[in-house]
Amino acid sequence: MPMNVKPIPTLDERINDIRMRTAEIINNDILPNEDKLWRFRRNGEVSERERRESHELREEIKAKVWKAGLWAPHLPEEYGGMGLDFLAHAYMNEVLAYAVGAASLFGVVAPNSGNQKILVKYGTEEQKQKWLLPLIEGKMESGFSMTEPHNPGSDPRSLDTTATRDGDHWVINGHKWFTSNGIRADFFIVMCRVVDESGEAGRSGEMAQIIVPTSTKGVNIVRGIGIWGRPESDHCEVIYDNVRVPLENILGKVGEGHQAAQDRLGAGRIYHCMNSIGQMWRAFDLMVERAEARQVHGGLLKDKQFVQGFIADSYIDIQAARLMTIHAAEKIDRNDAEARTDISAIKIFVPEAYHRVVDRAIQVWGAAGVSNDLPLSQMYLGARTLRLADGPDEVHKILIAKNVLRRYEAGESWDFGN
Ligand SMILES: Cc1cc2nc3c(=O)[nH]c(=O)nc-3n(C[C@H](O)[C@H](O)[C@H](O)COP(=O)(O)OP(=O)(O)OC[C@H]3O[C@@H](n4cnc5c(N)ncnc54)[C@H](O)[C@@H]3O)c2cc1C
Repeated sequence: MPMNVKPIPTLDERINDIRMRTAEIINNDILPNEDKLWRFRRNGEVSERERRESHELREEIKAKVWKAGLWAPHLPEEYGGMGLDFLAHAYMNEVLAYAVGAASLFGVVAPNSGNQKILVKYGTEEQKQKWLLPLIEGKMESGFSMTEPHNPGSDPRSLDTTATRDGDHWVINGHKWFTSNGIRADFFIVMCRVVDESGEAGRSGEMAQIIVPTSTKGVNIVRGIGIWGRPESDHCEVIYDNVRVPLENILGKVGEGHQAAQDRLGAGRIYHCMNSIGQMWRAFDLMVERAEARQVHGGLLKDKQFVQGFIADSYIDIQAARLMTIHAAEKIDRNDAEARTDISAIKIFVPEAYHRVVDRAIQVWGAAGVSNDLPLSQMYLGARTLRLADGPDEVHKILIAKNVLRRYEAGESWDFGN
């Protein structure tokens, strides 16, 4: 079933045009070819010819996207991207995400896309030439290496990977895990605590992000950690053992590491939530489509009240998630400091709603719901993972309560109208 995208009356013509043209490619080129487009990943399970066809089809669609001016919505025009403003990007994402994985055909591939944005913002001209441009051109791959096995990722101040200044070099020592894309990456952006007794590079103990080529001596990829029952993945455990990189590999200044990580997550959470909403939209369409066609116990599923309840509850979940996310996005867009509370609210609510909607869609489809014939099982695992990645739910609840209580303690109540 194609995605039903019509112009939204409250949006400007430009954003509507981007959404309509994105939907055209999703509906005409990607959805009808979904089974072929991802074959290239299934080493050993498909023939060489099928893998080649899959690659060729992907390149054809990418060329179409590029021609339509829809390539790399996250990048400024000077780096070959669409140069979209924040809201336009958010509204494009929900359309893009309707087809699982379609973003990669529009030039958005995590974690490369997040690293590209960090390099655009914090990189020197030399770093941009050396790392950013090859990353954009697809000649390099990258990873973001922050989480550590022996420290809580939900409290990044606890990180203890060190970067010690030694002459013209940083010497990095530490143990990370869940560094995504670790197997293919040519470089990692590594979150480190700086040790610089001379004080020349900045205050000792503060955080910095440092570019580390994966070919550097001492970068040991221990394993691709198996997740969700699969024996391995590209989320890697990495040991940095006396890894020496030049001082100029630091991104921004010592002490800016946390801010750079926040930049990656803050506004990024709106994009992630709009992605989840696009996927809920798809799960909803699949659920209704099946309910209308499947006969059980002498009647169609759509006529059973249990299933009508699933449809109604999912409708409510999607509307609530979408409106909350747009509300938060509008606050960010007008630089409202209170947006932080709303970002935390959507970071909790949207993945939970996504999880519920996909769960109901799977139930309606029965066994087919968990099969590889439909995207629902992948969505289900993705939705569950989102609840603990990028800051677990509990951390965001603490933040919301803190912001609310601060208001009341200052003698003011909460204004839900703003
Ligand atoms: C598929 C996948 C890909 C990832 N990719 C990357 C990547 O590319 N780079 C990277 O650096 N990291 C990555 N991560 C790691 C991810 O960001 C962390 O898992 C996440 O930040 C949580 O950290 P943690 O696993 O150490 O959990 P912990 O911090 O140990 O938290 C565990 C649990 O404790 C509870 N909790 C935490 N704080 C509180 C509190 N204050 N009160 C009550 N309960 C609390 C929560 O339920 C939480 O889920 C990835 C993770 C996954 C699953």
